[in-house]
Amino acid sequence: MSWAPPTDPVNKKSLKVSQLCEICHCRKAVIKRPKNLQKVCKECFFHVFETEIHNTIVNNNLFQRGEKIAVGASGGKDSTVLCYIMKLLNERYDYGVDIYLLSIDEGIVGYRDDSLATVERNQKQYGLPLEIFSFRDLYNWTMDEIVAVAGIRNSCTYCGVFRRQALDRGAQKLGINHVVTGHNADDMAETVLMNILRGDVARLEKSTAIVTSSGGSPIKRTKPFKYSYQKEIVLYAHYKKLDYFSTECTYAPEAFRGTARELMKNLEAVRPSCIIDIIRSGENLVLKESEQRFAKKPVNSTSSKPQFVDGNRCERCNYLSSNKICKACMLLEGLEKSRASVTIESDTSCDGAAKTLRNLEKLSF
Ligand code: SF4
Ligand SMILES: [Zn+2]
Ligand SMILES: [Zn+2]
Repeated sequence: MSWAPPTDPVNKKSLKVSQLCEICHCRKAVIKRPKNLQKVCKECFFHVFETEIHNTIVNNNLFQRGEKIAVGASGGKDSTVLCYIMKLLNERYDYGVDIYLLSIDEGIVGYRDDSLATVERNQKQYGLPLEIFSFRDLYNWTMDEIVAVAGIRNSCTYCGVFRRQALDRGAQKLGINHVVTGHNADDMAETVLMNILRGDVARLEKSTAIVTSSGGSPIKRTKPFKYSYQKEIVLYAHYKKLDYFSTECTYAPEAFRGTARELMKNLEAVRPSCIIDIIRSGENLVLKESEQRFAKKPVNSTSSKPQFVDGNRCERCNYLSSNKICKACMLLEGLEKSRASVTIESDTSCDGAAKTLRNLEKLSF
């Protein structure tokens, strides 16, 4: 008697063995997992994707029962999948955490306003509370105004510093000490690569940490998607029919990051495991004692410079900062100078902002 492969219980038509899911061996494979090229059915893909994230959460002890967490929600694919998965896993495995959605409106017309409309729909779809904090309210600047004054080249530097602080401030207003972000494996491998290419020993040491915090801030940030491939997040969002916003930001990513991203994509095309391999390499890098000292001491620091330690507050905005003036206030000062010179001289010079950026590079944060 000849052997007949099991058939999909839903679709009774018989399948060739090569068409079957490599996990359940009964349904038709419809997805080739970008992470390991395994051919799987939709149901098994959902199950392994969700279980891997659950394992990352449990193995790293990310959440405590009774804790309030703020999920950084931008309406993009990563954050939409994160909101959906956090709610799903919290219910399935009973983590016992209270989930809030926290959004930052950077003030980028045609991009953030549309993506926030997606977050507002997600709030209703998932039944989670949502809070939105804007750059306008917190800093009296929008990203569009910042780019007009400081130029497009440094847009992500300003946006990154202000958004990190805005997330902390927003969480603090909600009485939350834990912000969860949708940074995925591709983002992390890209950062490791950039730090290696720049020889940035100080950042390299921290670039694979799953739990981080800004200097002096009591608010921790965690990344449950640390090992999740971007392509799998997109597939998950697609097959689950999640409502997300896919337009790119008007301001392109920093040129060097863009190049590192391209390099990562080329490497991934040849060897899909390289994303995880780069993260693992970063995790296993141990700095020599002399390098650690070098990493902790800023190149331009002098012995006469006052030392500010974690727990200090910024002299201007009173926000927790390990430096005398926090990074956001330094940037704001440069912007104000540029705005004044633009107003008085009707000039498009952005000397103030450029000088502040140069000064920032000399500080340690
Ligand atoms: S691409 Fe840059 S400017 Fe646009 S949202 Fe991201 S960090 Fe901000
Ligand atoms: Zn299957
Ligand atoms: Zn400040």
